[in-house]
Amino acid sequence: MFSLEGMNALVTGASGGIGSAIAIALAKQGARVALSGSNGQKLRAFREQLHQEHGGEHVEITCDLSNTEQVEELIPATLDTLGGIDILVNNAGITRDNLAMRMKDDEWSDVITINLEAAFRLMRASARPMMKKRFGRIINITSVVGATGNPGQMNYAAAKAGLTGMTKSFAQEVASRSITANCIAPGFIRTAMTSALDEKQQDAINGRIPMGKMGEGGDIGAAAAFLASREAGYITGETLHVNGGMAMLG
Ligand code: NAP
Repeated sequence: MFSLEGMNALVTGASGGIGSAIAIALAKQGARVALSGSNGQKLRAFREQLHQEHGGEHVEITCDLSNTEQVEELIPATLDTLGGIDILVNNAGITRDNLAMRMKDDEWSDVITINLEAAFRLMRASARPMMKKRFGRIINITSVVGATGNPGQMNYAAAKAGLTGMTKSFAQEVASRSITANCIAPGFIRTAMTSALDEKQQDAINGRIPMGKMGEGGDIGAAAAFLASREAGYITGETLHVNGGMAMLG
């Protein structure tokens, strides 16, 4: 069950905390993965580690998602190197937090460009090869704050809520071709960023989570592997909330 044997996947932000866990989960189920990010060195190191620990002939494709030309080249490069694309995971994301009154134009536009616009371009470009194949899985990584809002994150919450609406629209356009498009909305996940918080800050966060702890990258990886599988073929336009019960959004 949930085998991804024979499938080709592109994961953006594959060198990051959550992206690397998603890449590992897909690879463990048998997918061949194109690992993308803006830092080629980090990607190469991760590809070698992935190969050593889990086998498989994965590839890395460097792409700066803030650069439109590079984004437009990413799906063609994936098709060239893997020979096809069955699974697209739009995971890469940045934060540029500031209170509304102080938020600078570039803090707004950087987050919208990387977190939302790049995902639109990659979904648009992957639609044709997926439609031709009559199979596809789009998985967009959003956030609990896209549903709840968060002070200091107008830009980030707008991008994540935008991704959710975009996913539902796309899902309706391509459903008849057996292509699904879904979101995974993580709550607090333990990454380098959250590990840098002191014990008091971590305790305060954990106190807001019914499970009493932050999630792990693997929790998001498992959700991605499920949504990517053939068995999840009747689930589309949905958001899977993976947040330890922090926000039960239905
Ligand atoms: P992370 O460790 O900071 O990783 C971010 C990834 O995005 C890196 O691989 C980075 O690669 C890539 N990236 C950043 N800017 C890029 C650019 N201009 N072009 C291409 N790639 C770029 O973040 P994370 O915590 O794993 O988050 C992954 C996703 O989960 C994000 O969408 C985030 O919003 C979402 N999320 C995270 C949490 C959490 O608690 N961690 C909660 C909710 C949602 P390079 O360094 O190579 O550029």
